[in-house]
Amino acid sequence: MSTFQAPKGTYDLIPPNSATYLAVREAISVPLRNSGYGYIETPGFENVELFARGVGESTDIVTKEMYAFETKGGDKLALRPEGTASVLRAALEANLHKGGNLPVKLWYSGSYYRYERPQKGRYRHFSQVGAEAIGAEDPALDAELIILAHQAYRSLGLRDFRILLNSLGDKECRPVYRAALQDFLRGLQLDEDTRRRIEINPLRVLDDKREAVQEQLIGAPMLRDYLCEACKTYHEQVRELLTAAGVAFEDDPKLVRGLDYYTRTTFEFVHDGLGSQSAVGGGGRYDGLSEMIGGPVLPSVGWALGVDRTVLALEAEGITLDIPAATAVYAVPLGEEARRVLFGKVTELRRAGVATDFAYGGKGLKNAMKSANRSGARLALVAGERDLAEGVVQLKDLASGEQTPIALDAVVDEVRRALG
Ligand code: AMP
Repeated sequence: MSTFQAPKGTYDLIPPNSATYLAVREAISVPLRNSGYGYIETPGFENVELFARGVGESTDIVTKEMYAFETKGGDKLALRPEGTASVLRAALEANLHKGGNLPVKLWYSGSYYRYERPQKGRYRHFSQVGAEAIGAEDPALDAELIILAHQAYRSLGLRDFRILLNSLGDKECRPVYRAALQDFLRGLQLDEDTRRRIEINPLRVLDDKREAVQEQLIGAPMLRDYLCEACKTYHEQVRELLTAAGVAFEDDPKLVRGLDYYTRTTFEFVHDGLGSQSAVGGGGRYDGLSEMIGGPVLPSVGWALGVDRTVLALEAEGITLDIPAATAVYAVPLGEEARRVLFGKVTELRRAGVATDFAYGGKGLKNAMKSANRSGARLALVAGERDLAEGVVQLKDLASGEQTPIALDAVVDEVRRALG
């Protein structure tokens, strides 16, 4: 193993590609910030108990994929595998739900960790932007979140994605369905692990990707036939609001998702250019999660969109984001005196808000101009001894090659004018 190698299942974001990741995070957060969601940041690790109780003891995320560890002080912690449980924990800790201003709407952006088998689009360290609306049961809130995710993807130029929608019922109707499903599943030819899953979390069996299992699932009872009136009405309203907003979706009665806390509305955004790791984002309603982690009744809904897969989706659709060059002006000094004077001008320009860089390290003219071009700058400021003696620097348009002397004490104004 080479010393310079990131751990398995991880990769580094480096320039220039890292700019795309920043732009994706930004694009996903814009519709949220514009809709009353406030920014929240929580620690990268939590007490392992939070995820065991919140995400679910029977989920792959908790049993197989969590980076759980004990500290030297004996604390049992885990790197966060997802955002919802942490955000809800933080909101409860800060009593945000007691301000009389429900729902509490929060958005976040950060790193998440799952010990998964790495492949394209599936990493052990990945990045999500998420949103949670805590403490309100209102179909318009479920619709809002789906509409905002749709808006975010559209703003990036993405088109080849689909929204899968389902309802998982609530504490009235789900247990009845669960029992019916268990009856059906117990009669199938399944391996030991799956048989155990029938008893702990039978809905997850529907999610099994193996063909031999899927074949046997034909004819399984479907949750939509068991939804109670309240859940049916709720779901119908979410569907109507999405349709009215012009957001197309597909009903997917088999969509269950890998986390235990979902109730009623569940949805996933899938992209058709991504192969097997096609889910770019997902979420849903989690009316029981607060109680599961020891809080009050707080019906809530949220989603998390994967930044890594969104970037892959952009690549799959051949979309290059229009990211402005980081540097507008590049200063090239020729000689010691010019270096001192130009560095002063660079500082002045930066303080005036002009993105400026400098040829460090005593580069020769040819090398310095190469760096100037590589930086993406539109203008170069070039000065040698003779220029300084005349009180000027040369302002060079890097696209046309055209060069004009400008007065040293008018550099900021002249540069601003040239940049338009
Ligand atoms: P989940 O909570 O598992 O539905 O994850 C939400 C989103 O995060 C997914 O739709 C993916 O875009 C992204 N995601 C989840 N796990 C990974 C992973 N191991 N690698 C990359 N992206 C992931």
